[in-house]
Amino acid sequence: MVVLSDALNRPMQDLRISVTDRCNFRCRYCMPREVFGPDFAFLPHEELLTFEEIARLAALFAAEGVQKVRLTGGEPLLRRDLPELVRMLAKIPGIEDIAMTTNGSLLTLQRARELRDAGLQRVTVSLDSVHDHTFMRMNDVRFPVSRVLAAIEAAQSAGLDPVKVNMVVKRGVNDSEVTDMAGHFRKTGATVRFIEYMDVGNTNGWRLDDVVSADEILAAIAAKWPIEPVPPKRPGEVATRYRYLDGAGEFGVIASVTRPFCSGCTRARLSSDGFLYTCLFGSTGMDLRTPIRSDVSDAEIRDIIEKVWGRRRDRYSEERTDETKQRIKVEMSHIGG
Ligand code: SAM
Ligand code: SF4
Ligand code: SF4
Repeated sequence: MVVLSDALNRPMQDLRISVTDRCNFRCRYCMPREVFGPDFAFLPHEELLTFEEIARLAALFAAEGVQKVRLTGGEPLLRRDLPELVRMLAKIPGIEDIAMTTNGSLLTLQRARELRDAGLQRVTVSLDSVHDHTFMRMNDVRFPVSRVLAAIEAAQSAGLDPVKVNMVVKRGVNDSEVTDMAGHFRKTGATVRFIEYMDVGNTNGWRLDDVVSADEILAAIAAKWPIEPVPPKRPGEVATRYRYLDGAGEFGVIASVTRPFCSGCTRARLSSDGFLYTCLFGSTGMDLRTPIRSDVSDAEIRDIIEKVWGRRRDRYSEERTDETKQRIKVEMSHIGG
């Protein structure tokens, strides 16, 4: 099997594919409505990769060692006929795992079944609070908690489990609700991942003071239920895992700010307009859409991917300083989380 390693000896194993830069939520930490308002220039349809183009690129990434693919966005379920893309990806030799991250707003039981039948294996649903007041403040489109909970249940009933639930914790907004979230999902089989608020992009007004650290999150949970760490299933896992000693299940903490994990970062990212990014905090990507829309051969495109990954030295979270924070960075809705 091919193993393509970067300049810091990290293999390329995962590919996050953003299928759209649009979203029906306006989470303040991701797409604040003052910036992503009615006049915002989202990508016109013809600039988005078609499913055929995505599948062609995914096959080339798989030939370079990628085994896991995650569909994301923007909101991936806004893209029509997504099961068709999943079906195409599931046929690619070497791709062993297909997952999706969604806000759950469009994930009905029927849709979950279609996706599962097409080959989707796992789903992560984002939910920042189990209380409507807080959740609506965070999604900023008055979307109720009950519909996301229904989506999580739909995913579980369709067999897309174990479902993961992402909660971004922001100080003064939902930090007092960490144990409510943990308590809600204990014994349900779903695994909550508490995520430190990150300085992705340049529009969310990020401040270090708003970050609730993994230590604080763990202390809040441990004060209520005894917990212990669980060893990682594989090297390079982004979430540090814990289990409740009373057998109520597991949860994870993604501490990209206070415990950066760049040394194990094996993720490549493909934006919805076909640019390859090698870091969530990247400024520029490599255009793969122009070559695939020209007469460029698969071998030549693999060569581009090899060169980009081969010279990769990104370790933004480990190097975060006042200077790096000022950099122009791609928005998360553009390349996906
Ligand atoms: N719309 C989908 C969703 O919300 O699940 C997929 C895309 S979203 C960009 C992917 C993940 O990134 C979500 O779980 C979201 O909460 C997380 N995210 C977005 N902005 C973030 C930030 N500033 N810090 C930490 N996580 C963030
Ligand atoms: Fe949309 Fe997801 Fe960003 Fe929220 S986090 S605005 S749901 S893309
Ligand atoms: Fe990977 Fe960049 Fe995040 Fe580090 S900062 S873990 S290199 S995406």
